[in-house]
Amino acid sequence: MSDSENKAFKAYTNSFLNDYINQYKNIVELAGEAIVVLQDNRIVYANKKCSEVTGYSIEEILTTPFIEFIYEEDRERVLKNLRNRIKGLPAEKEYDFRIIHKDGSIKWFHIRPVIIQWNGKPAVLDFLVDITERKKLEEDLKKTVAILQATIDATEDALLVVDNSRNILAYNRAFLQLWEIDEEKIKMGSEVLLQHVKHLVKNPDVFVEIVEEIYKNPNKVVRDTFELKDGRVFERFSAPFNVDEKIAGRVWYSKDITLKKRFEEELEKLAMTDTLTGIYNRRKFEEILTEEISRTKRYGGTFCLIMFDIDNFKYINDRYGHDAGDYVLKSVVEKVKRYLRDSDKFSRWGGEEFLILCPKTSITEGVVIADRIKETVKEISYRSMNITISVGVAQYSRDDTKENILKRVDKAMYLAKNTGKDKVVAL
Ligand code: GH3
Ligand code: MG
Ligand code: MG
Repeated sequence: MSDSENKAFKAYTNSFLNDYINQYKNIVELAGEAIVVLQDNRIVYANKKCSEVTGYSIEEILTTPFIEFIYEEDRERVLKNLRNRIKGLPAEKEYDFRIIHKDGSIKWFHIRPVIIQWNGKPAVLDFLVDITERKKLEEDLKKTVAILQATIDATEDALLVVDNSRNILAYNRAFLQLWEIDEEKIKMGSEVLLQHVKHLVKNPDVFVEIVEEIYKNPNKVVRDTFELKDGRVFERFSAPFNVDEKIAGRVWYSKDITLKKRFEEELEKLAMTDTLTGIYNRRKFEEILTEEISRTKRYGGTFCLIMFDIDNFKYINDRYGHDAGDYVLKSVVEKVKRYLRDSDKFSRWGGEEFLILCPKTSITEGVVIADRIKETVKEISYRSMNITISVGVAQYSRDDTKENILKRVDKAMYLAKNTGKDKVVAL
């Protein structure tokens, strides 16, 4: 190669190399991530992006000890990793740390440092990925989750949240208490949980069947009650929940309603009973009568009403006092109750007036029953006085209304009263 040829070749390779280097320089300079090279605790290279993420000029970055950019709490971790990496000792492969921006704000970065050769000596190359926004979202999410957990823990009702594959996403303290389960067990998954619950419920097969049915129908919303082996009654509510308008899982809610249920039953009982005698009151009897009429209308057959009133009751009250009257009322009820069949419905219609419904009973049978009642009451004696009653009997006939049959039995009883008392009259 001649000299001139040699020169031309050198010029060519130089320009080729320069182009090559410039290309790479551009890539690094224009990279979307901050890139720094650290050597001997100094930043020996920083791309343009570094200036943007820190607020400092490249000149400031290169002349300031790098540790000053690091948030105080993270300095030890960063230094230790750097030292160990250079020495070839164990260091974190990647980690997050904070940088103090020139404006005082804190920014989060993620790095995965690598060792390179820089001017013939080992150096550390870092790509800094700005994760401030992600960290903020994570923090917000953590806060939201904490608030949510506190809220569901404060809820007295048991809550369980599962995803579409029945993985347990959340539960509250009340759930653990109500279902007598510990966290260890619940962490074993919904299948273990279902087995646990099966042992507690009264009808495990029915319970499981309903649960499976609900899971098979993701849209299903269920509210029902079920009993436990120990007698408690739970209310269950189950409904799907959506994420981005798609069903993402299901919320199960359960609540001990044993006391509420007992209270309701007690209230219901109170609402239909006469307080003094414990038999049905007038309101309940009217209901029973309405039902019996519609049943008889539908299926045929008949029934009888027996109405009786204690004779000269006012005398007992006036002569011996109200308590004596009450005692007689209770005695009459006890006596008659013992005589009646289970299917007969016995009520206190008012004051000292009683009404009995005898299902599937003809007038002839009704009169026999009425007579026996009259005789059995007579066995009660108060202060050597025998208690007598006047009794009316009426049989239900087709086309009778409630009012009709009530009027008839009342009329029968008053006929008995007005024609000498202590007798039975049928109409
Ligand atoms: P008759 O033979 O015609 O039926 O006369 P009677 O005295 O039995 O009937 P009357 O209607 O004159 O009096 C009924 C009395 O029953 C009047 C009322 O004060 C009394 N009475 C109503 N309810 C109760 C109650 O709950 N307890 C008591 N002790 N007395 C009651
Ligand atoms: Mg009377
Ligand atoms: Mg009366």
